[in-house]
Amino acid sequence: MRKRRILSVFLFLVSVYLLWLAFHLITFKSYTTVPLKNSSFEVAGAFHIHSTYSDGKKSVEQIARCASDNSLDFIVITDHGSPNYESLASEGWKEGVLVLAGSELSENRGHLVVLGFETPSSPFSSTAEEAVYQVRVLGGFTIIAHPYSKVQWSWGPKADYGGVEIISADSMLRQSLPLSLLYLPALLVNPKFVFLKVLTRPERNLLKWDSLNESQPIFGYYSVDAHLLYSALFSSLHLHIPLSKPLSKEFDMAKRQVFNALHRGNFYNAVEAAAQAKGFRFWAEQGGKIFPMGSDVFIGPQTALHAAMPIGVELEARLLRNGTPVFRSREGTWSYPVTNRPGIYRVEVYLKERTPMKNNFPWILSNPIFLKEKIND
Ligand SMILES: [Zn+2]
Ligand SMILES: [Zn+2]
Repeated sequence: MRKRRILSVFLFLVSVYLLWLAFHLITFKSYTTVPLKNSSFEVAGAFHIHSTYSDGKKSVEQIARCASDNSLDFIVITDHGSPNYESLASEGWKEGVLVLAGSELSENRGHLVVLGFETPSSPFSSTAEEAVYQVRVLGGFTIIAHPYSKVQWSWGPKADYGGVEIISADSMLRQSLPLSLLYLPALLVNPKFVFLKVLTRPERNLLKWDSLNESQPIFGYYSVDAHLLYSALFSSLHLHIPLSKPLSKEFDMAKRQVFNALHRGNFYNAVEAAAQAKGFRFWAEQGGKIFPMGSDVFIGPQTALHAAMPIGVELEARLLRNGTPVFRSREGTWSYPVTNRPGIYRVEVYLKERTPMKNNFPWILSNPIFLKEKIND
């Protein structure tokens, strides 16, 4: 009798849980938007991916197929190694996707992603500052991986780092394991929903990023750090590059287009699982010239910052100067005059729609524009 009662209570709880989950899944929608400006030369990709050449679960070919299924234009494979020569050799056009490769080095300070370098004849140093120098000499650039999760980064003297990860999807899934388990059945039906549920605002990373930018330009990355669940991650987190001309069909040229944009900071990050982000733009205008994200601009009498948002969702854009919001807008386009206000300006866009993502998580994260005062001598 007692057993039967326990069983019926258990079954009741399971049905309540399943109904609750079904309600969330049925009401979940990923928003479709329309780019406001002509964004035909914009490409989207996923950054920080592991294949079977290190600790990933799929081969580069299988990963490229997942990327193609998710309409990605490019992917950046970053297998462990110093560098990982096999992984580097796997670059090329696969399944219509531009497959690029760098490596993830294990350094004395933590994990460092290195990209765009000529293949070295001997391994990179395991001292971070030396590796940064070696990569620079070979024409490449470096990104500090997951600084506050997994293998944490130990901050040291200033070195020429090109970027820092603002979020690492893999870390977020691991850190939110109890919550992920709660939504486990949903992972089979709609992994995007689970992904959005586990995202938490990367406050520490954002603060550190802003403070690093005060002494040197360093660009922010939303990283998938994919080892498995490739398809779910590729549909969830994108790097967007607004190119000035179409992505070349010729591999070496296309590789240069993507890596140059990442190196210079002309890209933005987006949580694509919440809503399509294509068409976002942030630029400075000075003396009739346009300066994209990542640019250094000397302030003149009519310098202004401009932004354009994707259309079709309620949103709020925040313009930040040295990490502090100075302007907010819910419009599709806006401008902000900056005369006499030098600083590091970047944009965060928040969705004002019903979404499983927390409302303090930046749906779109731009890279900065550095406005400087001209020093007359
Ligand atoms: Zn790592
Ligand atoms: Zn990794």
